[in-house]
Amino acid sequence: MTVKVALIALTVLCLAYPSASGGPACEEAVERVRNGTAAATGDFRPLVELREAILLTLGFGLFAGLVAYVFNLVRKYVYHDQDDLDTAFDAGGQVSVGLTATTIVSQWTWAATLLQSCTVASKFGISGPFWYAAGASVQIIVFAILSVELKMKAPGAKTYLQVIKARFGAKAHIVYCVFALLTNVLVTTMLMLGGIASMTSLVNGLTTEMAAICLAAVIGTYTLIGGLGATFYVSYFNTALIFAVLITILWKVYSDGGSVQQNPLGDVRTVYDLLTCSSGPAGNQEQSYLTFFSTGGLMFGVINIIGNFGAVFCDQSYWQSTVAARPLEGVWGFISGGLTWFAIPFSMATTVGLAYVALGTVNGEALLSAEDVDKGLVAPVVVHRLMGHAGLVAPVVVHRLMGHAGQVIVVLMILMAVMSTGSAEIIAVTSIIVYDILKDYVCIFRKNLSDSACTLCGKRRARIFRQADKCQCKPVANCKLCKEEAAKGEKLTQEYWLYSCPTHGAYRNYLNLLLSRKNWYIVVVTAATVPLVLVADSVGLNLGWLYLFMGVLIGAAVIPIGMALFWARTTAAGMIAGATVGSALALVCWLAVAATLPGGLMGGNFIKNTGDQLSMIVGNLVSILSGGAVCAMVSLGGSFRVPTQELEEEWEKTRSLDNPLKPWGPTYQSAYKMESANKLNDRPTFAEVRRYCRKPRITALAAGIGISLVLVILWPAGMLAVGVMNGDQFQHWVNVSQSWAYIAAAFLIAVPLVQEIVSVRRQYVTNKSAVDCANEDPVEEEDNKTVGISYIEETSPNPQQPAVDGLKDAEGPGQDSDAQVLVKKNAPQEVGDGRCLEDVL
Ligand SMILES: [Zn+2]
Ligand SMILES: [Zn+2]
Repeated sequence: MTVKVALIALTVLCLAYPSASGGPACEEAVERVRNGTAAATGDFRPLVELREAILLTLGFGLFAGLVAYVFNLVRKYVYHDQDDLDTAFDAGGQVSVGLTATTIVSQWTWAATLLQSCTVASKFGISGPFWYAAGASVQIIVFAILSVELKMKAPGAKTYLQVIKARFGAKAHIVYCVFALLTNVLVTTMLMLGGIASMTSLVNGLTTEMAAICLAAVIGTYTLIGGLGATFYVSYFNTALIFAVLITILWKVYSDGGSVQQNPLGDVRTVYDLLTCSSGPAGNQEQSYLTFFSTGGLMFGVINIIGNFGAVFCDQSYWQSTVAARPLEGVWGFISGGLTWFAIPFSMATTVGLAYVALGTVNGEALLSAEDVDKGLVAPVVVHRLMGHAGLVAPVVVHRLMGHAGQVIVVLMILMAVMSTGSAEIIAVTSIIVYDILKDYVCIFRKNLSDSACTLCGKRRARIFRQADKCQCKPVANCKLCKEEAAKGEKLTQEYWLYSCPTHGAYRNYLNLLLSRKNWYIVVVTAATVPLVLVADSVGLNLGWLYLFMGVLIGAAVIPIGMALFWARTTAAGMIAGATVGSALALVCWLAVAATLPGGLMGGNFIKNTGDQLSMIVGNLVSILSGGAVCAMVSLGGSFRVPTQELEEEWEKTRSLDNPLKPWGPTYQSAYKMESANKLNDRPTFAEVRRYCRKPRITALAAGIGISLVLVILWPAGMLAVGVMNGDQFQHWVNVSQSWAYIAAAFLIAVPLVQEIVSVRRQYVTNKSAVDCANEDPVEEEDNKTVGISYIEETSPNPQQPAVDGLKDAEGPGQDSDAQVLVKKNAPQEVGDGRCLEDVL
């Protein structure tokens, strides 16, 4: 309600100003530009030929496949990564700041970002691009805060759902799995359908079916070849290309003074003159395009900010960027990712959207009918009555300025945007299927495993137990048999039951089984996008409506997810109630508001009234706020008596998420020289990790809150003081938008490349010196490893369980699981007890 009152007040304020008047100066300016231009504006029609589009797609698909292959070679021969399950989903867990930023940028750049932002600019003037950019980059920057918490409290987690399972058990886990998968399905539908719709409108003869199949084939192929890691490398090239196209367009509109024949714009002054002669929307001060006093723009800003939180926080693909980043550097990846992403809609729309208005003034009438601007091309973000779908604004302007080549580069830009977001979503869904469904419910390695127990042997790992009940497993880094088998395994066929190490063999085989399944799931998930897109297309889904509805539906999960990582007193009941009750409340309020609008919910008014900005603002706000409030109240009700000391134990649950074959303890130890690693459970204590995370946590909090305040409140408030811009102010504004694009492009192109080269080189040198060392003194090799030394000393020569027992424990009575199949195949290869141990001792 407060929002509505504020908006009404602003409208009244804006209308009080007199509206712009043409005047002779204006006519002269328009005449001057018009005389220089030979041809009148040609009709807009698709100029890109089908074979060009297919060549582009296949060419880039081939290139992406090659990049994925090169990535695999680098990981295998330089980093000596095993081709194992975790690597497919965390890319080695050592991704640099630059590459993290690049990936986030390309993942968050939808086709809609490029096209919709231009539509907003053409409707509201300079405030449109700003609200588009600010309203969607704060979520990414705030996400940096969650990213540090995850690295600190659950360093071994691969999905955020695993954290929820570890803390709150299966029921809460299932509820949030539903929310997560729902988010992925909705996001995939919107971005694929939006991208495909805009491509079919630019390419002659391209059908939706053809586009969907081509895209799925290309995305599926390189995701399958390289896993998450390859998508990082491919994202780099995608982002670089998007920025190259963006800068070409910027230059064409504002700095290309040369050929007036084709390009009537070309410098800031001309664009400014034409804009002052254009009559803007009624809600703007003096009806000018050159002001921040815009009711439409502000309303759009509010909806955009709320709606995007669910799309980022509930989407596993942003969490997996955190998982893949180097332990304490992910925070910088998100901050720089958010800031550089800002440049894409901001500069693109400040350039193309305003150029659209200016060209319309030159033309004497708008280049497109109002209906065409809104026509169902791309999607989202704002509703119907406010703006309908995004439109042809960007393609028509680029076409006007650059002809055929212009259309080709727009197609290229959209292709890049769809590819990288699409593959990130596919990996996200696959990782939820593998880590949260398959591993936890379908093919369980060891049932009823307690928090502190060892996954490998099922015994407890804490100090207090009798020697016989205590886990004796030694770290895999010291296991000679495993090493021999791994070396042999590379030459053998891809059979997943080939490991026989009594300690690690069974779990290794289990993970290999999951790995072989992973490829199938990638194929299935990718293929499933095709019918999804076609069905959504055939029922004529309104993407703008769907986008805002997504906020109503999943917004309730946003704050509880944050609480799961921040607040030790959160309970399972609170988590479940927060998401479900919040969602239900939001749906009720949303429908109630829509019902009060003229026409109610019946008689074909459903989409119109539920899509109204008022019902959507109420629905989104209720969803996000009530989800948090319900979760907090129910949690407090259940846990306010729990003493503070016990709360610390809460995080041990999430810290226990680990892969015993690749424990996070030694990784943290070697990366940050943490002293207490290997002492207990071969991992540093919580206090120590927290000490190391102090700085990144403060950085994330300060940057998250500070930058958000500047972007959402201080900067726009400051712009209100400017009123309607004069020529110099507009020049500054354009300079800001251009410099931002140049700096972002330089950062995203140079930093990942340099960091990657440095890190590959460093690894190469390390490998070389290790080989030299080994040649000089081969006997010392085993002892040189400090990791887990304390374990060997503690270990008594008790016989270990044979590999198969581990798996026999896993299967419940009557459960015909994959693990059982595994046992049967494994049986002939039983080895003697404790052989692996004797070898080392
Ligand atoms: Zn054990
Ligand atoms: Zn072993």
